[in-house]
Amino acid sequence: MARDRSPKCKQCRREGIKLFLKGERCLTEKCAIERRSYPPGEHGRGRIKQSEYLMQLREKQKARRYYGLLETQFRTYYEKANKQGGITGDNLLRMLETRLDNVVYRLGFAASRAQARQLVRHGHFSVNGGRVNIPSYQVKPDDLVSLKTGSGAEQIVRDATDLTAAVAPWLQADHDGLSGTVLKWPERAEIDTPVSEQLIVELYSK
Ligand code: SF4
Repeated sequence: MARDRSPKCKQCRREGIKLFLKGERCLTEKCAIERRSYPPGEHGRGRIKQSEYLMQLREKQKARRYYGLLETQFRTYYEKANKQGGITGDNLLRMLETRLDNVVYRLGFAASRAQARQLVRHGHFSVNGGRVNIPSYQVKPDDLVSLKTGSGAEQIVRDATDLTAAVAPWLQADHDGLSGTVLKWPERAEIDTPVSEQLIVELYSK
């Protein structure tokens, strides 16, 4: 499976915001954004001419990197969101949030989305008792996500729960039992992803 291999901290510096791509390091003063909050590259500290297109592009890149997706994957989500009824931007964020890897991360069972994706891909989690090793699997209300009994990743998952300050309000986590339930579909106000989804919709609908 292809993935974005560009340096993670550079991605944050490019977007000018912490995307929390490196787990525990992101919570320390070693975070590159804390030390060099300007974009990478020779002209990083120069003045960048803003345009409507650039703002839309940056917003899309930020969201794509936040969820760790490639352009084609992200675009596919947009196209599905656009076909659904209701507000396209809300649909897009809801689909991204309810990916299994994101849910594992939001439940506090992984220190980053990248780690969550690897844990899922290696078959450490089940949904409603059945093994699911597809990071993009869409969970739905009442689904039970749990670490498989006897999983060799238990310590990693327990360490990640120690770093978790809060669990998303649309989820309920049992950090002792290493399981979590999807209580409902997430509302926009319950998703703390720092993006303006309207700009993304404007970019793609050109
Ligand atoms: Fe981003 Fe984390 Fe690197 Fe900070 S440490 S720049 S939040 S990936």
